[in-house]
Amino acid sequence: MFEIEIDRTACDGIFACLARDGRFVEDETGLATIDADAEGVIEVARDDERNSVVATVEGNIDDAQLAAQACPPDAITVREVDT
Ligand code: SF4
Repeated sequence: MFEIEIDRTACDGIFACLARDGRFVEDETGLATIDADAEGVIEVARDDERNSVVATVEGNIDDAQLAAQACPPDAITVREVDT
């Protein structure tokens, strides 16, 4: 299991992430978020204090790491979590 965190202060809506990982989607404000209905996505939570989205995900971590590497402003953090 792993978490994907998107720093919405840093996110600039270029959407390099969408091309690498289909779990990333554009939200109503034009920034990236994670599709709560995508396969393997357990939870998507907003952290308004940190202005971030944190998704808990099971399954393929490789695509998420590719999305993080491709993000120009480094807005994506991927970290493994204990179950
Ligand atoms: S690639 Fe990074 S900056 Fe661009 S939309 Fe995705 S998270 Fe935001």
